[in-house]
Formats: sequence, C-alpha cells, structure tokens
Amino acid sequence: MTSVDRLLVRAPNWVGDVVLSLPALRDIRRAFPGARLEVLARPWVADLYRAVKEVDGVRESRGHARDAAQLRTAYDLAILLPNSFASAFVMWQAGVPERWGYSTDGRGLLLTRRCRVPRQVSGRSQVYYYRAMLEGLGLATEGPPDASLRCPEEWGARGAELLGDDGPWIGVNAGAFFGAAKRWLPERFAAVADVVARRAGAKVAVVGGRAERPLAEAIAEGLTAPVRVLCGETTLSELVGVLSRLRLLLTNDSGPMHVAAALGTPLVAIFGSTDWRETPPVGETSRVVREETECAPCLLRECPIDHRCMTRVDPGRVAAEALELIAP
Ligand code: SF4
Repeated sequence: MTSVDRLLVRAPNWVGDVVLSLPALRDIRRAFPGARLEVLARPWVADLYRAVKEVDGVRESRGHARDAAQLRTAYDLAILLPNSFASAFVMWQAGVPERWGYSTDGRGLLLTRRCRVPRQVSGRSQVYYYRAMLEGLGLATEGPPDASLRCPEEWGARGAELLGDDGPWIGVNAGAFFGAAKRWLPERFAAVADVVARRAGAKVAVVGGRAERPLAEAIAEGLTAPVRVLCGETTLSELVGVLSRLRLLLTNDSGPMHVAAALGTPLVAIFGSTDWRETPPVGETSRVVREETECAPCLLRECPIDHRCMTRVDPGRVAAEALELIAP
C-alpha cells in the first residue's frame, strides 16, 4: 500500500451509530497521525463530526452518483464503517485506490482489505463491533473506548438561549425514530419528569423531532412543573447544545440518548425491544432500566403483542434511578 496522506472515513447513517463508532474513529486517527482525516456523512449526522477534534474535514453525502463524482482522486484510502454494498461501490466508482471494511452485503470484491465480522462481538456494545473491524484490518485499537463528544461553546450558548437561562432543566426524549416498539408510555414519562423536576426544582424540556411534537404536547399537558416543548425546533447542533445544558435526560433508546451520554449528561434510558447489551448508552452517568421479558430483544418497529417489555417498566423505579443520579 502506498502512503496515506488523505484518508476518508465513511460515517454510519444514524446518530447513535455515529456516537458508538467514535472510539474506532479515534483509533483510525492514531493509526494515521500524519494524514488529513475527513469524514463523508449523511447531512442529518454530519454536524456531530464538527464536534470531534480528531476530524480535519466533513463532507456531506448527497447520493451515490454525486458522492462518486466529488470524491474522485481526492483520497488514498477509504475506511467504511457502514456495512452496505453501496458504500463500497461509491468508493470503487470514485477510484479511491484503497477501500477497507467488513466483507458484508456481498461487497468483498470491491474492497482491497477486508475482514469478517467476528463472532465475539455479538452481545457486546457496538463500540467493539467497529473496533473489531479495525483489528481485522490490521490496525491497532488502544486503551479504553472514548466515545465522548465535546459541545462547542457556541452550540452550548445556543442551547441555553433555546431553553432560556433560568434552569436547571431536565429533558424528556419520549420518541424513537425507528418505531413505536422502542417507546415507553408518554404518561409515565410525564409522571417521572414531574416527580424529578419538583424534587430538583427544575423545569422540563421535551426534545425530539417534528413528528414527535403531538407526543410531546401530550406529555407537556401531563406535567405540573414548568415545561418547554422543543420538538421540531432544533437542528442537530442546537439539540447537542440543549442536551449539554440538561441536568438529566429521561429517554428511550434513541439517537439523542447516545448524544447525551457522549456529552456526559446524566440520563436514564428505558430499554424494551432493543438490545441493551449491544446499544447501551456510553458513559458513567448513564443508567439503563428494563424488565426481563421473554421476547426481548425483538428489534421490531411495532410490537405484535401487548408491548409488555415497556408496560412492565415501573415509573417508580425510573424515578428512583433519576433522583439518585442527580442527588447532590
Ligand atoms: S415483541 Fe416483546 S420485546 Fe418486542 S416490542 Fe413486543 S413486548 Fe417488546
């Protein structure tokens, strides 16, 4: 292999996966200390990389044909974090001479260095899925995984502006883009948020996307504590700013959960249909609450039965975890 001066990392497509792949990104940085390291990312996750100092530049992906054209002759090596055939095909089309990644989705022949997904990553945090790929490709992974994000000052200031600076604030993230199976019951979120906010003398910010606004309004109606609904009102960088200002986040398993954990914001995450072993939030101030359910993790978008993985989660238990986390 020729020397690597210009290196491109193809980012995962979802916010949570971006956070969980940050330790691998930092390993790549250490493996190529002198190279210019850029990231190709979907527009809805690209801003996160602007909060990662190891990254020298961010390109937004605009679709396969446009990506192939814009990348032509620009890089010596592309490392692919997503598993898709398409992500490898674009790099091949663009003529990137070295293309490395897992040999998944029938793309092995498009890769110049490849490895299989090792069995031992199953049942462990996805952090190790990405790191195992680097090891399979012959790169070193060093030290404890660092999936932290540092909120840029201006993002934090914008977050404070959106909240109003008369906190403290606790956040509620009751949606989950993937599907309803991942969502705890909104009235239970409201009950827990109310208890915690009253006890902490805090206000409640409900965060999420535009589609989650009706859900957020319903939660706001169930609260007696002061509340601000920010669903649909924040860009990704503004959401990072808001999450960085929270005293605590109550959340489903979702992108904002992973971002809050990476920022070091204390959080309680309710897990049901998803795998608590593979996609838990990072960080020492994150707590996962779940109940043993014979069908979990099913990884379905919608529950085909009675959603017992979520209805069994007791609000008292969630509130107790939250209060312990914010205790002085
Ligand atoms: S099938 Fe089981 S794990 Fe899946 S959403 Fe329904 S209750 Fe939860």
